[in-house]
Amino acid sequence: MTDDLLKRHRAVLPSWMSLLYDEPIEIVHAQDRRITDSQGRTYLDFFAGVLTNSMGYDVAEISDAVRKQLDTGVLHTSTLYLIRSQVELAEKIAQRSGIPDAKVFFTNSGSEANDTALMLATQYRRSNQVLAMRNSYHGRSFGTVAITGNRGWSASALSPVKVNYVHGGYRYRSPFRDLSDAAYIDACVADLVDVLDIATAGDVACLIAEPIQGVGGFSMAPDGLFKAMKEVLDSYGILFVSDEVQTGWGRTGEHFWGIQAHDVMPDMMTFAKGLGNGLTVGGVVARGDVLDCFQAESFSTFGGNPVSMQGALAVLDYIDDHDLQANCAARGDQLINGLRAAGHPLVGEVRGKGLMIGVELVEPGTTTPNVRAAKQMLEETRKRGLLIGKGGLHKNVLRIGPPMTLTESEADEGLRILLDSLAAVS
Ligand code: PLP
Repeated sequence: MTDDLLKRHRAVLPSWMSLLYDEPIEIVHAQDRRITDSQGRTYLDFFAGVLTNSMGYDVAEISDAVRKQLDTGVLHTSTLYLIRSQVELAEKIAQRSGIPDAKVFFTNSGSEANDTALMLATQYRRSNQVLAMRNSYHGRSFGTVAITGNRGWSASALSPVKVNYVHGGYRYRSPFRDLSDAAYIDACVADLVDVLDIATAGDVACLIAEPIQGVGGFSMAPDGLFKAMKEVLDSYGILFVSDEVQTGWGRTGEHFWGIQAHDVMPDMMTFAKGLGNGLTVGGVVARGDVLDCFQAESFSTFGGNPVSMQGALAVLDYIDDHDLQANCAARGDQLINGLRAAGHPLVGEVRGKGLMIGVELVEPGTTTPNVRAAKQMLEETRKRGLLIGKGGLHKNVLRIGPPMTLTESEADEGLRILLDSLAAVS
């Protein structure tokens, strides 16, 4: 049955739409942090969709909120009418962003959110030049696929913007890798100044960056990098956009937004994924003058629809009511410490914060990317009933991003499977 579905999938869906696993999984049921496939096999989900199912599956409070909206008969009409839940969610996000006089625009995805941020920045600054980080990923729309700094996911040929890349996000294979945190930050800031001086006339619209690079393998800059970079950007009037599509809503444990680790206030933040717990919702929260700078009339047919808004409001309440930011911190420490303590020779680095954990696999005794081991780890963990993700420039990084509701015993169970699978692969 799955074979047939795979054949039909390949016949009508694009060849570039990635599927995980040699034998791709069809999910037919999900509950809490576990999913069941069409063959009746159940897996503990350590990837939460792609960090989308942030609360887990079949959460009564969220389903009830969505059902209540469906029961009104108003799935959606358009954003040409007032939508109470949209205003309420915008108020909450604007307030939690900490951005002064913030406003919010809702989209349907992270790509669309980042495209909107690029559109706003280029309008605000009257420049089509942007800066992005090496090893970054910002989506697959026309604008975002063009600025993504990772060869496997980008298509720069027909870019609507001119992009230059700066150092900072991916340290493990950076030329500045062995420097102290402070010296690393200085080197990255010097690189930023250099790029501005040699590749631009300073008339750049924005720098867009992920506080922790997601697709790039949960790579992290040292805390404080973006504050130091923003000082340079401010001296040119360049806007700073924090892409919080993966890092928002407390997943990193120590902060509600990933960028808060850098003690800096961005001009815009983009968000999506975990806010909807599987419903399609994304958006931009920005300084009011930046969000209002667009001169033409516009709207979004589906962005901010009442079904997604009610679901997202329930998700935000659920995060607060269950103190999930603290849970991310505790479960993250449990997993990171457990993986580090194992000191496995295939593991070059375990990094991350909260429930965004990257495991960089290398040829033992070297820093050479071990792509084969990463592929095998996906299959071995699956065999043992655990789903994880994979990423990084070389596709050799295991990505661990379970639902934020992960329990202590589930974290132990997943850790045991990870360590057993590492033993099997080596
Ligand atoms: N930005 C980041 C950091 C992402 O990780 C992603 C998706 O993985 C996107 C943007 C694009 O979001 P979407 O797939 O919802 O368009």
